[in-house]
Amino acid sequence: MRTSEDTYLHKGLRSKLIDSIREKGITDEAVLNALLSVPRHFFLDSAFEKQAYEDRAFPIGEDQTISQPYTVAYQSQLLEVKPFEKILEVGTGSAYQACVLAELKAKVYTIERQKKLFDANKSFSFLKKYPTLRMFYGDGFEGLPTYAPFDKILITAAAPHIPEALLEQLKPGGCMVLPLDEGEYQRMHKLTKIDHQSYVQEKFDEFSFVPMLVGKR
Ligand code: SAH
Repeated sequence: MRTSEDTYLHKGLRSKLIDSIREKGITDEAVLNALLSVPRHFFLDSAFEKQAYEDRAFPIGEDQTISQPYTVAYQSQLLEVKPFEKILEVGTGSAYQACVLAELKAKVYTIERQKKLFDANKSFSFLKKYPTLRMFYGDGFEGLPTYAPFDKILITAAAPHIPEALLEQLKPGGCMVLPLDEGEYQRMHKLTKIDHQSYVQEKFDEFSFVPMLVGKR
């Protein structure tokens, strides 16, 4: 069962978590404030409330995880979200990262390949707080051509290669942040699209994500 109560104890734990993320090197105050605004314990079973405020990934069922808060902050910071930008997120999972992007006032389109996880979010009442957050069931390798182009794209699963369709769905001048590699660890990449033929690639730290898989289930 989920709880929807956000007490002073929760707020206190959350504020400590945000302090620890700041100490780990996240400097974007808008991102830190967004994490402060989203009660992460709402996204886990109420039995795991305390763990919600540890800086760790956590299982959410179907062999998937809610990303580590530091990782969510890191990817959000690299994405340099501006209000009203149209952002495609691949890998809705718990919808925690999607809510952080929505707190940054982005128009979020998020896609999940696992029907059970997608369905679980349909009855998650906290998500009503974000009227511009839209959730889709589908394969992130294909993106959402109907809604393209996007200002930014964020992949929250380990991409074995750069998904071509996603590059196409990105506006020139826009960027895509993704953990790239097939191994146990992936290097965070930021691709900035110049025009339809070219992009600039920057590499950052290593992380460990669950794999981005082809097709739906
Ligand atoms: N952003 C999530 C992280 C979830 S883990 C959160 O904040 O909780 C990564 C998610 O990516 C998993 O739910 C997994 O099912 C999903 N995923 C993996 N491959 C995918 C694909 N090709 N398309 C869409 N989602 C995918």
